[in-house]
Amino acid sequence: MASDGAVKFDDEYDVVIVGYGYAGGIAAIEAHDAGARVLLVDKMANPGGISVCSYGAMRSAHNADQAFKYLKTTNGGRTSDPVLRALADGMARIEPYMRKLAEINGAIVTPREKIANYPFEGYDTFYQTLIEELPNFDPAAHYPHVRGAPGGARVFKTLEDNVAHRGIEIWLEAPVENLVTGPNGSKEVQGVVVRRKDGVRTVKASKAVILACGGFEANEEMKRQYWQMKPVLAATTNSNTGDGIRMAQGLGARLWHMWHYHGSYGFQHPDYPYAIRMKRLPDWIPGREATAVVQMIWIVVDQHGKRYMNENPPYTQDTSHRPMEMFDTVTQSFPRIPSYVIFDEVGRRRYRVGAPTRNDPDAHYDWSDDNMQEIESGFIKKADSIAELAGLIGVDGDTLESSLARWNALCAAKKDEDFGRPAGTMMKIQRPPFYAGEVWPVVSNTQGGPEHDAKQRIIDVEDNPIPRLYAAGEMGSAWGHLYMSGGNLAECLVTGQIAGCEAAALETWE
Ligand SMILES: Cc1cc2nc3c(=O)[nH]c(=O)nc-3n(C[C@H](O)[C@H](O)[C@H](O)COP(=O)(O)OP(=O)(O)OC[C@H]3O[C@@H](n4cnc5c(N)ncnc54)[C@H](O)[C@@H]3O)c2cc1C
Repeated sequence: MASDGAVKFDDEYDVVIVGYGYAGGIAAIEAHDAGARVLLVDKMANPGGISVCSYGAMRSAHNADQAFKYLKTTNGGRTSDPVLRALADGMARIEPYMRKLAEINGAIVTPREKIANYPFEGYDTFYQTLIEELPNFDPAAHYPHVRGAPGGARVFKTLEDNVAHRGIEIWLEAPVENLVTGPNGSKEVQGVVVRRKDGVRTVKASKAVILACGGFEANEEMKRQYWQMKPVLAATTNSNTGDGIRMAQGLGARLWHMWHYHGSYGFQHPDYPYAIRMKRLPDWIPGREATAVVQMIWIVVDQHGKRYMNENPPYTQDTSHRPMEMFDTVTQSFPRIPSYVIFDEVGRRRYRVGAPTRNDPDAHYDWSDDNMQEIESGFIKKADSIAELAGLIGVDGDTLESSLARWNALCAAKKDEDFGRPAGTMMKIQRPPFYAGEVWPVVSNTQGGPEHDAKQRIIDVEDNPIPRLYAAGEMGSAWGHLYMSGGNLAECLVTGQIAGCEAAALETWE
């Protein structure tokens, strides 16, 4: 919406921040501490976005130069050096930064040694910063609408305590619908249009607007247009519908990394509005297969009953969906969507295979510890023989039997010659009853969006910063090729700080 100099503003702040996840919370704290009057706006009744459901693992670095080398290699030429440099520098300051924020509530900030996922130069400089304990805080009681890992909730509570302590104004259930720009075709951002329950408000941002409103996990049309494989189901929340991407595009923003998302595969349960991701197994490092010691109870087969992937790649939670992409031009179908996970009675008893996550008071499914609830309801199919199981899921019996026979032979030889799954994760599937569940590609969070520079200014198609428009967090993430565990939260912290400080340092536009 162009103001043409005639817009009547209902409210006025220096910096308006769209989205209250980690990125928005950090940007608000920084802009406030730099002296700006801040408004933090979220479309949902409960803030926290995906962040509050996360593991809360924030990737940190001992040495920024080493971190930069690793980031440069793993981003495959798809992210500029200055942006990666800023991320690397910020990662080297995450732990002390979190310790400062933790003074508010006594949260116990813990560094945990964990080198990066892939063996490229600089990978051993990385570790993770976590909040392993927060006194007198019970995540389930405090956030009853959230199901995730407690670590993410502890970090979000620490941000909330800091935001509240500063008296930063927050509007909830208030989607930002549009940006307000200056007169005569100017692209200078001067405010936002917010739909509140009590009416539409036009809010002046006399310094800047920061878009921290996440990715497009829950925007079906954007997923259809930017990704080949379909459908890809969202885990966790329906709040992130690419609104920031659309608003920035309206001002000519250049997009990057739209193809790239943090994903895996999981179940589509009729009683649950989100994908239920498979249980997370530990990461391992290529070249150090001996470190992959936790057995994965399942294999994955396609609609013919044929195994086609390494089910346990180095960072299983990030890249497992990628082999599902194959499109058969003869049959005009995706023969791997859905696929089937197959396991046996020994596996069934070992751990629950589904792990629902959510930030949504209306979603309520919890997976049973022994998988029996899902088997008894018929959601997971059960049979006494492989041939019978094949009939239940509609795949060719001979193919499924030979896939299982081959798998069991590979397990006996302790070497997956077909797809390179590490020996320590392999386990025979041979004891009846046998089980099968339908699985689909799942997006945990997207990485794409408007491109930004090292100051978090959003860049347009002519390579110019769009005046007074900033990005933070997952909205236009720097992760452009090969993601690193803990990298999105690290990015929220680093880019939230940069965007908040840069925005607050601007002169007002009048
Ligand atoms: C289960 C799970 C675990 C994860 N664990 C980790 C981990 O341990 N480490 C790691 O690095 N990454 C992890 N990730 C990824 C990481 O959590 C996300 O990438 C990150 O939290 C995104 O933060 P954000 O602040 O950018 O967005 P979000 O936290 O998603 O916040 C965006 C906010 O914007 C709001 N919003 C959207 N549109 C509008 C609008 N128009 N107006 C107003 N508000 C709007 C939304 O309601 C939402 O509250 C995990 C992801 C999942 C799914």
